[in-house]
Amino acid sequence: CGIVGAVSTRNIVPILVQGLQRLEYRGYDSCGVAVWRDGLQRARSTSRVAELLEQVGKDAIEGGTGIAHTRWATHGAPAVHNAHPHFSHGSEAATRPARVGMVHNGIIENHDDLRAALRARGYVFTSQTDTEVIAHLIDSLYDGDLFAAVQAAVAQLHGAYAIAVVHRDE
Ligand code: GLU
Repeated sequence: CGIVGAVSTRNIVPILVQGLQRLEYRGYDSCGVAVWRDGLQRARSTSRVAELLEQVGKDAIEGGTGIAHTRWATHGAPAVHNAHPHFSHGSEAATRPARVGMVHNGIIENHDDLRAALRARGYVFTSQTDTEVIAHLIDSLYDGDLFAAVQAAVAQLHGAYAIAVVHRDE
């Protein structure tokens, strides 16, 4: 599995997808990409990266800042709703625009405890992954500084992992 992230003044989606193609040899069961352009948008697939490329073209997903992921499922079945990037829409209705977008490789061992605490605060989970816990945790700690929120979130995570995170407002 793998993570790609990129920032540019031009549309970064072809570069992100190319990055995923270079990581394909490592094996994966699903893949996805999220970019910022007047908000966060994403495409996810349980098919090959080539199919993701078709999907981003069809859905006109474009932007200058983005993250992408090939997943090897550890928590939750290989299904589109479990594929990364995962979003946090905040602690209210999940229909609001996404605020945090993130991808993750590895395992969060204390995901059950964190999920219970975030649920109690009103966060709605749409996947069975340990990853989605990180997205909501970062959102819950965000106060205008994404790096500070990620640092505070990471201090609460147990496990071996790598993440890449984007925020709607930065
Ligand atoms: N544990 C995460 C999941 O199951 C990440 C797996 C990976 O490293 O691709 O979604």
